[in-house]
Amino acid sequence: QKQEWAKLKDEATVTSEGEHVELAANIGTPEDVEGVLANGGEGVGLYRTEFLYMGKNQLPTEEEQYDAYSSVLKQMGDKPVVVRTLDIGGDKELDYLDLPDEMNPFLGFRAIRLCLERDDIFRVQLRALLRASVHGNLKIMFPMIATLDEFRQAKGILDEEREKLLSEGMEVAGDIEVGMMVEIPSTAVIARQFAKEVDFFSIGTNDLIQYTMAADRMNERVSYLYQPYNPAILHLVNNVIEAAHAEGKWAGMCGEMAGDEIAIPILLGLGLDEFSMSATSILPARTQIRNLSKKELASFKKELLSMGTAEEVVAFIKEKTESQ
Ligand code: PEP
Ligand code: MG
Repeated sequence: QKQEWAKLKDEATVTSEGEHVELAANIGTPEDVEGVLANGGEGVGLYRTEFLYMGKNQLPTEEEQYDAYSSVLKQMGDKPVVVRTLDIGGDKELDYLDLPDEMNPFLGFRAIRLCLERDDIFRVQLRALLRASVHGNLKIMFPMIATLDEFRQAKGILDEEREKLLSEGMEVAGDIEVGMMVEIPSTAVIARQFAKEVDFFSIGTNDLIQYTMAADRMNERVSYLYQPYNPAILHLVNNVIEAAHAEGKWAGMCGEMAGDEIAIPILLGLGLDEFSMSATSILPARTQIRNLSKKELASFKKELLSMGTAEEVVAFIKEKTESQ
C-alpha cells in the first residue's frame, strides 16, 4: 500500500471526475516542511506559530520570526503557506507572560483576544510576516475569531503595519490573502457576513467541535460527546462552505477531521476546497479522493444533513461510499 501511495506523490489530487481539491499539511516548525514535500503536500494549510513562542523565557524577536517564516516560505516555493498568528492561552501557556489563572481557560483570554489587547506582541509578529511575504506565497490567518469586530480590528492592525513598513522603504508582497479560522460556532452561524470581508476560511474542527458540543476536547469523561460526524457540526461546516462560495472565496479545514477517512467523503460532498492534515495523511487521502465522485457525494448532501445522529451519518456515508 505504501508503494501505491508513493506513486501519487507528484500527482494532483483529483476526484474520479477529475475535479481538483487541495491537500495541504499542518506544521509547527520550519523543519516540518521537509516531511510536507516528501509526502506530496500541495501547500501548508496551517502553520501553528505558537512553537516559536514556547519553550523559552522571552518573546521571540522580529528577526527570529522573520527567519522562521522566510524559511518555510522559501522551502515551499510558490505553493501556498497559511500562517496562523499566535494562538496562545487555553491549554498552551507562556511562563514569561504571567497571565492570571482562569476558571475556564478555553473560554478565556487566548489567541486573538490576547493579541488585540497585547498589540505590542501582535505587531511584532505581523511585521515579521509582512517582511517575509516577499519570499513565497503567504496567506495570513487569525485564530479564535468570535466577532466581525475582532476580524476588522486584527486586519486594521495588519494594514497599519503594512503602511509603516512601506513608508520605511521595506518590500511587502501585494497580494497576501487574509483569512480566519472558523472554530467558534458564532462565526459559522453568520459565515455569510464574514465571507464578505475575509479572503478565506479555514475550519478548525478541533475547537469547533468542543465549543459546539460543550465537550472539552481533552476530557475523557465527555469524549463520547466529542462527535465530528454529529449533524450539528456538518451543518456548521456546510454553512461555512456555502457562505464562502457565495462570495467567491475558498473554504478549507485544518482540524483533525480534514484527514479523517470517514469525514473526507462527507467534506468532499459538501464542497470543501482545501484539506489540511498531518503530512503522513496526505498520500492516503489522495489515494482515497481519486476513487471518490464529488458529484455523486454532493447529490446526497440534503439527505446527509437531515440525519439525526452521528451514528446515522457514519452508517449512511459508509453505505454510499462502498458502492463507489
Ligand atoms: C483547531 O482548533 O481545529 C485547530 C486546527 O487549532 P488547534 O488544534 O491548534 O487549536
Ligand atoms: Mg483551535
